[in-house]
Amino acid sequence: MYSQPRRSYYGRRTQRGCFPGGRLLIAAAVAIFSLISYSGMRQDNPVTGETQHIDITVDQEIALGLQAAPEMAQQFGGVDPDPQAQAMVDEIGNHIVSSSPAGSTEYQYDFHVLGDSRTINAFALPGGQIFITRALMDRLATEGELAGVLGHEVGHVVARHSAEQIAKSQLTQGLTGAVVIASYDPNNPASMRTAQVAMVIGQLVNMKYGRDDELEADFLGVCFIDDAGYNPEELIAVMRVLAQASQGQAPPEFFSTHPNPERRVERIQQAIQSLDQCPGRSPQTSPSGM
Ligand SMILES: [Zn+2]
Repeated sequence: MYSQPRRSYYGRRTQRGCFPGGRLLIAAAVAIFSLISYSGMRQDNPVTGETQHIDITVDQEIALGLQAAPEMAQQFGGVDPDPQAQAMVDEIGNHIVSSSPAGSTEYQYDFHVLGDSRTINAFALPGGQIFITRALMDRLATEGELAGVLGHEVGHVVARHSAEQIAKSQLTQGLTGAVVIASYDPNNPASMRTAQVAMVIGQLVNMKYGRDDELEADFLGVCFIDDAGYNPEELIAVMRVLAQASQGQAPPEFFSTHPNPERRVERIQQAIQSLDQCPGRSPQTSPSGM
């Protein structure tokens, strides 16, 4: 293969160098490295009790989330100018964190209302940056429903779903993840080159969680809002609001990768029946598979 660069994997003489075979070798090495590091990296989650495939630290998660936050805000109408809405979200969000096991983590939670009045959405970046759009806020009828949305997003943070996704994407993209992110020093943002930072942030901003992640975030959301003194059934009401909002048009993004609403409601009801399985309560068992 090395003697036939014209018929190499790349299908043409590369303009980047004289050794297309060398690039193949590097690609193979990266792929193998990714596989080894993926299977080798395991961290125990102190809140959920799960063992996860994650190879970045909590500090790296926080730093990446902070760096991606402005771009995320920009995509959804920027910061909402209404200080009352922001104050309410801060108050409820911080109350959920301080009264649940989410508060015992190192994450720095920040809640943001974004000005987009058309896109019904809420999302979390790694490390504690949490967003809700004006459009979703306007459709919620009670403080408890808002708590339900925020509790779900806090669940994504605590369960480290973004970090898991990053680890998975490394498996498929090799160089994108492992080499770049593993060498990222959160105290020295310059340790990652600008183009690489942009790439990772682009990935984070467009990241979609899987079905199981959503169900786990629902479960944790139920637990955390119950900890905070809200009726966990408020999260069921949120599902109804979202289902109604999605009629006759494209489903809200909060839904797009989510399991269907009926299935979600069913699982939320199950979670409400088994609050003793929530993090920080006894008997401390991890609801595996959720
Ligand atoms: Zn979610």
